Amino acid sequence: MGHDLLIYNALLLTLEPESRPWYQGYVAIQGSKIAAVGQASGIQNLPNATEYWNAGGSLVMPGLVNTHCHAAMTLFRGLADDLPLEQWLHQHIFPGESRWVDYDFVYTGALLAAAEMIRGGVTTVADAYFWEAGARQAFAEAGLRAVTAQGVIDFPAPGVPDGSDNLAVAREFIESGRRSPDGLITSTLFCHAPYTCSAGTLQGAKALTRSHNLPFFIHLAETRQEADQIRHQTGLSPTAYLDSLGLLDEKTVAVHAVWVDETDRQLLARRGVKISHCPESNLKLAAGVAPVAELIQEGAIVGLGTDGAASNNNLDLWGEMSLAAKIHKVVRQDPTVLPARQVVEMATRQGAQVLGLEDVTGSLAPGKDADLIVLELRQPHLTPMYDPFSHLVYTARAVDVQQVMVQGRWLMRHRELLTLDWQILREKVRGWAGKIMPGAAGFFQGMADQA
Ligand SMILES: [Zn+2]
Repeated sequence: MGHDLLIYNALLLTLEPESRPWYQGYVAIQGSKIAAVGQASGIQNLPNATEYWNAGGSLVMPGLVNTHCHAAMTLFRGLADDLPLEQWLHQHIFPGESRWVDYDFVYTGALLAAAEMIRGGVTTVADAYFWEAGARQAFAEAGLRAVTAQGVIDFPAPGVPDGSDNLAVAREFIESGRRSPDGLITSTLFCHAPYTCSAGTLQGAKALTRSHNLPFFIHLAETRQEADQIRHQTGLSPTAYLDSLGLLDEKTVAVHAVWVDETDRQLLARRGVKISHCPESNLKLAAGVAPVAELIQEGAIVGLGTDGAASNNNLDLWGEMSLAAKIHKVVRQDPTVLPARQVVEMATRQGAQVLGLEDVTGSLAPGKDADLIVLELRQPHLTPMYDPFSHLVYTARAVDVQQVMVQGRWLMRHRELLTLDWQILREKVRGWAGKIMPGAAGFFQGMADQA
C-alpha cells in the first residue's frame, strides 16, 4: 500500500537522538502521521505514494517548538521599550491590559502571532495569557499545535475582574476544551509568578493541572528583585519556595529560571522540572542570563521560548537559537558551550519534551505527527554548507522557511499562508492599533499609500 505523500530529494534532519543528516532523504506521510523516513538514491528506490513532492535539495526538519509565548501581546509590540521591568509591567503592560484586553483582542493578537510563527517555522507553541479561549480559537483556525494556558494572578486581570475567581476561570477554561478532537490543542493554566500568586493560589492551580495530568506553567526567578522579595518573605529562594509548596515535578514548566543557584538547579533537575529559556526577553528586560549550560549539566531538559512580543519584540525562534548559542559562550568565556546541534535540539525535540509532547512531535520519526518545515538553501547567506546545524543556528533566518506542515496539513507553501488571510487579519490589527494608540492607524495608512 502506498503512502499519501512522499517528500523526497531533501537534506533531511530527523533530530532523532544521534541521527546524522541524510542527503537524498525522504519523508513518507500517511494521513496526519509520518509513516517512514529514509534515504534513497534514485526515484525508483522510493516507497510508493499517491503524491510525490520533490524538495529539490531543500532542508527538511521538524517544525520548531516555542515553549513560551504570550501571543496576544503582539498587539503591544513596540509600544513601550527600554524600560525597567517593574516600570514596563506596572506603568505600561498592566494598564494597557486592563484597558484593552478582551476576547477579540486576544483572538486578533493570537492570529497575528500565529501568522508570524508559521512564517518563521514554528509548528508548536505554548501560550499563556488571559481570555485564553480567544488564543485557543485563533490557533485552531491557524492549524497550529498549541498548549494554551489561562493566566492565573491574584489581582484583577482581563476577564477576571475579581482576582479570587482566577482558579474558577482557569478550571472553566480547562474543562471547556481540554483536548481538541485532532489532538492539536491542549488547554491548561499558567501561574504568573511566585510573587503575584499566593501560596494557596499556587497550590490550588497545581492541584487542578495535576488532576487533569496537564503541564503547569510559571514564570520563575526571572529577576533579582523577585528572588530578593521571595527570600525576604519566606527565607527561601523562589525555587525552594515552590518546592516547599509541592509545586515542582516533571509536569511543571519553569519559565526563565535566571536567578537559580547551584542548589536550585539541582533541585529543578532532581524534580524533573522542565525549563523554558527565553534569552531575548531576558536580555531586553535586563533580567539576567539564565545558567542554561549548568542546568543542562545537572540533567534538566531545556527548551527555547520567545516570551511575548512586548518584551522581545518578535516571535522568531531563529533569533533565540542564535542568541542562546552565543550568550552562554560569552558568559562562561567558553566557545564550546551550547554547540549548534544542541541548540537546534532545544528548539525541536527538547522543546517537545518540555511540553510533554515528545511522543507526537519534535522530531521526524515513524508514528509521530507530520509536523515539519522546509528551508530553501540556494541563497547566498547559506552557501556553502559544510554543517547544516551550524547554518540553522548561526546564519538561517525565519524568512528562509518556505513550507510548513502540521499534522500532515500544509499551513504555508512557498511562503504563502494557507490557513490565514493576511489582508483581512492586517485590517483587524489596524483597527486595534488605532484604538491602543490613536494615530497609529496612520502608520498603516502610510504603508498602504506607498504600496
Ligand atoms: Zn512570559
